[in-house]
Amino acid sequence: MTHIITSLCVRDRGCIDVCPVECMVPGQPINEWPWIYIDPDTCIDCGACVPECPYAAIFPEDEVPSAYTAKGGESISKVGLTGHFEGTNHHGGPIVLDTARQLEAGEVVDLTPDIQPNYDFFKSGPGYSAKDVDNGM
Ligand code: SF4
Ligand code: SF4
Repeated sequence: MTHIITSLCVRDRGCIDVCPVECMVPGQPINEWPWIYIDPDTCIDCGACVPECPYAAIFPEDEVPSAYTAKGGESISKVGLTGHFEGTNHHGGPIVLDTARQLEAGEVVDLTPDIQPNYDFFKSGPGYSAKDVDNGM
């Protein structure tokens, strides 16, 4: 199994520093790969990243919710969305996303389609080479 980062990820980067096997990679280009991605072949399922995420975006693969009920105000970020999100990441740097949408309280979202992009990023996407063009966002 592996842990999965879902579309609740807004690139805060708090998780990356704690991963003991350095298998979390910030997606690039951001509009195509808007999250941080976990290499499923390298993740050891230690769970260290989960409490580090202020947006509760990380789940064990078999616990990714099919009916996530929004608290309201949190954002999802996905290819195809066109909303804007700005914030400050764990290191004090800027976050700017143009693939976001703010959720309304009580809105129910299926996060299971977010599982496959974590695999695709390493199989057919940029994978670890995205680290070479990491701009800190
Ligand atoms: S801490 Fe959460 S929001 Fe930040 S990069 Fe990691 S998964 Fe994404
Ligand atoms: S569960 Fe552990 S090994 Fe897997 S991504 Fe999180 S910190 Fe890294």
